[in-house]
Amino acid sequence: MGTRSGIEWTETTWNPVSGCSKVSPGCAHCYAERMAKRLQAMGMRKYSRGFDVTVHADTLDEPLRWRQPRLVFVNSMSDLFHSSVPATFVEEVFTIMNEASQHTFQVLTKRPDRVTMLDDRLRWTPNIWLGVSIESEPWLKRLGPLSATGARTKFLSLEPLLGRLPGLDLTGIDWVIAGGESGPGARPMQVEWVRSIRDTCVRNGVPFFFKQWGGVFKKRTGRVLDGRTWDQMPAVAVGTRDAVAYRAAALRSSARAPARMPSMP
Ligand code: SF4
Repeated sequence: MGTRSGIEWTETTWNPVSGCSKVSPGCAHCYAERMAKRLQAMGMRKYSRGFDVTVHADTLDEPLRWRQPRLVFVNSMSDLFHSSVPATFVEEVFTIMNEASQHTFQVLTKRPDRVTMLDDRLRWTPNIWLGVSIESEPWLKRLGPLSATGARTKFLSLEPLLGRLPGLDLTGIDWVIAGGESGPGARPMQVEWVRSIRDTCVRNGVPFFFKQWGGVFKKRTGRVLDGRTWDQMPAVAVGTRDAVAYRAAALRSSARAPARMPSMP
């Protein structure tokens, strides 16, 4: 089963792979690792290998069974482009996403170099969005390989934001998410870092989604930036527009602060 997600910018998670390994400072307090170990301790079969990379072929066809269009975050518990995920399995995941054209799939990775390596073998139908995570200036280098892929919708997840991102170049980027770290040991995010990103998005006409301030208790800090929420989403070119509109409406109705979907300048 796909899992209805509490992640603000998606609807459902689909995890044909679980487990990962740390690749940069943004991974230090990996939520997926904490959760995988907890589920392993609870005896859940899917997580019997804890946070070791494991493919789950039995979950591949789940999206084909969901009739209503959904926004689907692919591998919230892993990184599809981890080197331990066989290329043939990545291709199988793509085949399902190609077939399940009623859905919009959000694939997020910290390993865009492997995407580049596999790019010729993947069919980038318009319902597949590809994003990279960037937490601080040294990792802006993930932008280059993202731009080189065949993904038609490209996005950035600047979370957990651990520093300023000077010179952020949004050429060819369709969506930006930003947010602070949450949970035990959360590292603080400064308001100037977020404002700078938001202002860059506004200047470039790129939709901006502010996910959270974060902190140990993220519900206390919320997700209001300068008096309002920022829930912008990319325009989509495929039949999943309804799902995006649905999600946007849900976000609007659930936000406490003024949350009108802003029109881009
Ligand atoms: S890449 Fe993502 S899933 Fe993998 S360890 Fe880092 S934060 Fe966790």
